[in-house]
Amino acid sequence: MSKVLIIGAGGVGGVVTHKCAQLPEIFSEIVLASRTESKCKAIAAQLNRTIKTAQIDADNVPELVALINDEKPSLVINVALPYQDLTIMDACLAAGVHYMDTANYEPLDTAKFEYKWQWAYHDKFEKAGLTALLGSGFDPGATNVFTAYLAKHYFDEIHELDIIDVNGGDHGYPFATNFNPEINIREVTAECRHWENGEFVTTPAMSKKAQFTCPEEVGTFNIYRMYHEELESLSKHYPTLKRAQFWMSFSDNYLNHLEVLGNVGMTGIEEVEYQGQKIVPIQFLAKLLPDPSSLGPRTKGRTCIGCVVRGLKDGKERIVYIYNICDHQACYEEVQSQAISYTTGVPAMIGAMNILKGDWVKPGVWNIEQFDPDPFMEAMNKYGLPWKVVELTDFNLDQ
Ligand code: NDP
Repeated sequence: MSKVLIIGAGGVGGVVTHKCAQLPEIFSEIVLASRTESKCKAIAAQLNRTIKTAQIDADNVPELVALINDEKPSLVINVALPYQDLTIMDACLAAGVHYMDTANYEPLDTAKFEYKWQWAYHDKFEKAGLTALLGSGFDPGATNVFTAYLAKHYFDEIHELDIIDVNGGDHGYPFATNFNPEINIREVTAECRHWENGEFVTTPAMSKKAQFTCPEEVGTFNIYRMYHEELESLSKHYPTLKRAQFWMSFSDNYLNHLEVLGNVGMTGIEEVEYQGQKIVPIQFLAKLLPDPSSLGPRTKGRTCIGCVVRGLKDGKERIVYIYNICDHQACYEEVQSQAISYTTGVPAMIGAMNILKGDWVKPGVWNIEQFDPDPFMEAMNKYGLPWKVVELTDFNLDQ
């Protein structure tokens, strides 16, 4: 029986709140706080139990500390934006509570996607006897745990990892992003980096394309290699990996829009002056695009996200694919959100549950693959993200 404070009332915040509210035996009290309290209240009104809401500026450490001290939660679930990770970590340290998030810290002025800032908090959390769990969404999150689970149960040594994130859903808009537009576009337009023979190799964004046929008739999709933050922690924690790549599906329509927006400067992250006002183009663009949390009722189709791992078992080479398929409309029926928020929010609830039950309590700052994958995998089957494991005879995305 524990109290949690959830910070952020966007697409992901809505799902985490719904999922925690479904488990009163674990999440006995819930406080949902965000910059705009009316969004917290709108989520609270969808639930069939009462939760508390609050207004908070998560960039402001003293405000955060005051809220945490007032509410006294056992854990803070950070599903605001990556820019707030460090302030929320500072506040958790000051108030003495565990911390959890779904995306690594990013400074506003550089799209870096590096763990170094958060890893630097390890000793502080260790000394305080507090746990900080990083990246408990789907990717990062479930994909890290999939890798850890295969490494634990299917291999003696893992050599190659391909994380493949396919969204076969359609929201019917000419252009919209499935999670926070600013973070999504920063990620997609960043240079690609993948792990190869002990180092990260940089290539231009979207310069490597392949085709992937998903199981269970989800379809065949164009996927593009890109950098994703779990590559940094997984290549560190699995030093036997010779290659690790991340792939995401994009439609030609999405890429054409992005190219034009990039060409005209609308995806820029540096301030420009317009009629005496300072404007960051990508933030202005994000304001114009549909709110990801509003896509639920109109998104149809399925996501298919998983990992293909190649390695050795008993001296023999083996290739194993582990994946989850999630239906956008089924998610909407359950928690009034599309599958991208759902596939992030459910693992966030599971990570929180593992901390609150004591399975994943370990002082320090940890990436999710550093914990025992088994309780997480069991919970995925139980709480809405069932997975399957398939042995492959061959796998090659090089074309
Ligand atoms: P949204 O933009 O929909 O929601 C973000 C929420 O955070 C909004 O409610 C916003 O408030 C609030 N917020 C922003 N700044 C502050 C602040 N300074 N103080 C308080 N609240 C603030 O994003 P998503 O829900 O799509 O994403 C949430 C997080 O999940 C992001 O970090 C994203 O990167 C991560 N994510 C992780 C995934 C994974 O698989 N690991 C996949 C998808 C997302 P307001 O409503 O006022 O703007």
